[in-house]
Amino acid sequence: MFASSHSVTDPALAGIGESVAALRAESRADWSTPARADRVVELGAAVEALAAELVRAVAAFDAAGDHAADGALSATAWIAHRVPMTRAAAARLVATARMSRRSEPLADALSNGATTVSHVEQIARVVHKREDIFASHGEALVNAALAVKPEAFRACAAAWRSNVDDLIGEVDDPFDASRDELTLSPTTGGLGVSGWFHTAAGIEIQNLIDSYDQPDPRHGERAPRTLAERRAAALYALLFDGRATSPKNIDITIDEATYRSRWTDDLTRVRSDVDGYGPVPPAWIRSWVTDAVLRRVVLTDSEVLDLGRGTRFANRAQRRALRHRDRGCVVPGCSHPPNWTDAHHVAAYFGGGLSDLANYALVCRRHHRMLDRGWILARAPGGGWTFDPPQDRAPPKVRYQPVADPQRTEPRTTAYV
Ligand SMILES: [Zn+2]
Repeated sequence: MFASSHSVTDPALAGIGESVAALRAESRADWSTPARADRVVELGAAVEALAAELVRAVAAFDAAGDHAADGALSATAWIAHRVPMTRAAAARLVATARMSRRSEPLADALSNGATTVSHVEQIARVVHKREDIFASHGEALVNAALAVKPEAFRACAAAWRSNVDDLIGEVDDPFDASRDELTLSPTTGGLGVSGWFHTAAGIEIQNLIDSYDQPDPRHGERAPRTLAERRAAALYALLFDGRATSPKNIDITIDEATYRSRWTDDLTRVRSDVDGYGPVPPAWIRSWVTDAVLRRVVLTDSEVLDLGRGTRFANRAQRRALRHRDRGCVVPGCSHPPNWTDAHHVAAYFGGGLSDLANYALVCRRHHRMLDRGWILARAPGGGWTFDPPQDRAPPKVRYQPVADPQRTEPRTTAYV
């Protein structure tokens, strides 16, 4: 990790700290209505001004590729790790910053408050994959961003995109499957399904599902189901041909306290998951562990205690245990899922105990290559991991593509499970 040369004592930020402290001391309950309203408006303006500065700071950070000095694979990954925001928000911020770099008038307008971060965000969305045409036809979009408020600008941005598509003759190909996607989002108690299919497939899919639809009697015992409810039942019938399904041969992870129905205040330690799926109600797991066909994994404090009946501590089992423990690449800030990772052997740093699970960590391919080039992965004192550049030379400049390292003289002490 690079040492931060700036801190809150930075004069540019000290004033903000003092202002926030003064604001925090305000008790607004006994203020007049206009005073309270003014405060909301003023704070909104101040937050917007700071947000614009954040975009400008990210634009410079991103342009220089600074995230690589920390071993992060992208500016988005770095920001999501170091700034308290979700990965989606970080991605939006980086896209907005790149958009501001694309147009000087836009960057200026953002800086002097003539437009807002929201405008630039919306522009980034509609300009995506239309960057070339923005260079020649972007002025109208920027002018609209200066003229109308964020909410009204949505229509302007959409109009720009559809006009541009018309201009360049970009019409959706009904057979183009390149943008098809299906998102499965497990949540406790169910699975969210959403997606997008190209028109030709969309028509087929809808026809197929609806052909399994069995409408309810209008005056039956129960109220008729909605179309959405009937379609869910039709898809289920289509997939399973009327057979009842029950989970078999799945791996589960549950922390001991949750397994024993003890309340845990530290929610970061609560686990009640099906491997490769996600969280399920603990009561289900309690009933499943008595089922002989279920392989099981029970965790306490992130250490694997029980790998299920008759399981030898073989590579497969270790890998399974690692997936449960690490849940993906362990490098701080990296969010690559288990399927994208290798088991990295950190034996050299622990000395012995080679087959011990504690000596393995899941790392993604790109971070694995960086380890091969001298980056150091180690256990952090408070749990978790640290990922540091090689100590005997300057941090290598890695941007998306690691480069060959001519200085490498000895084989690394890495091994794969
Ligand atoms: Zn990684």
